[in-house]
Amino acid sequence: MQTVEAGRSLPRCELCGNECEKPLEVRREGVTHVYDCLECAVHSLAPVCGQCGCRIMRRPVEIEDRVFCSANCAAIYYDPGFHNDMHQLVMQ
Ligand SMILES: [Zn+2]
Ligand SMILES: [Zn+2]
Repeated sequence: MQTVEAGRSLPRCELCGNECEKPLEVRREGVTHVYDCLECAVHSLAPVCGQCGCRIMRRPVEIEDRVFCSANCAAIYYDPGFHNDMHQLVMQ
C-alpha cells in the first residue's frame, strides 16, 4: 500500500478540481483531458441536446450542425406543429 507523499501534487479533475490518484484520461481531437470520474468526463465532453438541453450519452441525432438526444427532440426543434412527419424523416 502506497502512501501519498506530502507536497506531491496529484492530477486534478478538469471539471471539478478534485485530486485523484487514478485519473480518467480522455483523448479527444489530440488533446488529453483529465477527470476524476466518468460522471465528470461525461458532463464535460458529452454534447448537449439542442432542444431539451440534456447530455447526450448515446449516439446523437445530427442534423446540419446541430445535435439532438433523439429524433423526437429534433422534430420538436424544427417544427413543433409538424411532429409526426418530422419524426419519420429523422428516423430514416
Ligand atoms: Zn471531477
Ligand atoms: Zn433532447
